[in-house]
Amino acid sequence: MKAIRLYPVRRTAPVCDSFENTGSVQKFEREMRVHRAYVEPYLVSPLDDRVDGAYRVSGAAGASHTVDIVDASGRHDACSCPDFLSSWIGTCKHLEAV
Ligand SMILES: [Zn+2]
Repeated sequence: MKAIRLYPVRRTAPVCDSFENTGSVQKFEREMRVHRAYVEPYLVSPLDDRVDGAYRVSGAAGASHTVDIVDASGRHDACSCPDFLSSWIGTCKHLEAV
């Protein structure tokens, strides 16, 4: 499969309902990763022929990270970026871009 270039779109940024509530903050943080997946450019290159496989995702800054789509649940997907590895919310802008 060939690489897919994703272009940024205009989109309203999410708002956090309450920074006092952990659940609200986690929801907001997930929504921000989805938002950044829309408003930033990416080059998504499949690393194998499976939809539930691995992808190399390159962002505007030139860094590339490996996204692993495991199954349709989204619970076991992973990315090699520092944000995914340190945020503990189970997603990142690269994963959301794929
Ligand atoms: Zn990532």
